[in-house]
Amino acid sequence: MTVRVRFAPSPTGLLHVGNARTALLNWLFAKKSGGQFLLRIDDTDAARSTREFEDAIYRDLQWLGLSWDATDRQANRLAKYSIAFYRLQAAGRIYPCYETEIELDRQRSLQAARKQPPVYNRASLDPANKAKWEAEGRRPHWRFLLSRSKVSWTDLVRGPVEIDTATMSDPVLVREDGGFLYTLPSVADDIDMAISHVVRGEDHVTNTAAQIEIFAALGGPVPKFAHFPLLVGAGGEALSKRLGSLSLQQLREAGLEPQAVASYLAKIGTSDPVEPRLTLGELANEFDFARIGRAPAHFVPEELEALNARLLHGMAHDARLAAMGISEALWEAIRPNVTRLSDAADVARLVTGPVTPVIEDAALAATAAALLPPEPWDDTTWPAWTKAVAAETGAKGRGLFHPLRLALTGRGDGPELKKLLPLIGRDKAVARLEGKTA
Ligand code: GLU
Repeated sequence: MTVRVRFAPSPTGLLHVGNARTALLNWLFAKKSGGQFLLRIDDTDAARSTREFEDAIYRDLQWLGLSWDATDRQANRLAKYSIAFYRLQAAGRIYPCYETEIELDRQRSLQAARKQPPVYNRASLDPANKAKWEAEGRRPHWRFLLSRSKVSWTDLVRGPVEIDTATMSDPVLVREDGGFLYTLPSVADDIDMAISHVVRGEDHVTNTAAQIEIFAALGGPVPKFAHFPLLVGAGGEALSKRLGSLSLQQLREAGLEPQAVASYLAKIGTSDPVEPRLTLGELANEFDFARIGRAPAHFVPEELEALNARLLHGMAHDARLAAMGISEALWEAIRPNVTRLSDAADVARLVTGPVTPVIEDAALAATAAALLPPEPWDDTTWPAWTKAVAAETGAKGRGLFHPLRLALTGRGDGPELKKLLPLIGRDKAVARLEGKTA
């Protein structure tokens, strides 16, 4: 079977890390299976969907490195949903409902008081009610008539799932104003786009039971389903409260590497170690539904930061670094001290300057300057030189290295001087040891 999956965001806000994880897991599964990844913009909610959010979705997915084989938006496909609606209606699975929101609320409160589940009572199916409400001139919304029987599937993450649709309200497919809610368009599209697997968060498990009935009623093949646990914060709190601070845009603007974000989102909540992977291809090879656990995945920003640093420590020199004026040798030297790529320019300045030296011990600095060997310099220069300085001045350990570092870089810590010194070069080293900005 050809694997075809879709990521179906609503353009009603910025992509947050939870959506991004859904997109990524779908993409990784498609790549692993040699399948296709479709991007479907779920914009049937015309009032809340915007072009700006849609563009932000494209931009954010591209930043993460995800490409799609096809894209479409639901607003282009409304005629197909009407056809699906009429087919369900012809099959006797659609009925008009006339209750107002207030009446439905009242019904739910009564059910709560009687300790009954909040399942819609189908009062609109009663011809007397229907006649009365129609006579009042009420406009209907439209529900799907569930079979009130057990629906089961083998979930690729959760294993066997069985849901009795008698425990659910008949889902509203079309609002009073004629607009489609998400449930039917999604099924119509999944059939039309030959989606083989629906991979999404476990907040959709109940939807799935209703949607499986709709797939069957439309005569479409029922795709396979995988529902993964949602992301929670460090303390298990719902991330939704903090979505604003966890958009992909924000992570990008914070200077995190897309590949660190992808590695983190692909690995949290799985039985794999959370380790950086330099390419999406590696993450795809390692992808397996069986490794996704049943417990919520903890998204901890500090862990992502640490993973970003680890990724950079193993990252090869690239065009972005070259554009920052950082050579391959300089990157090698500073890489272990960089936690975000944006730090690299700052750390690189320790070599390229200008550095205002800090002279703690003028006599030591002068002796050290005098003992600097002629160039060319390499990794052996620093140990040979500091040995000579130690022999001449009697300074050792921190008393030797700390003043040299402060003089050469103006800072008390930083990358290995063995690596930095040859890059700083003799002219700048002499000047800095003499207390001159260079
Ligand atoms: N637009 C839906 C959502 O964002 C898509 C869910 C699905 O994958 O079916 O929740």
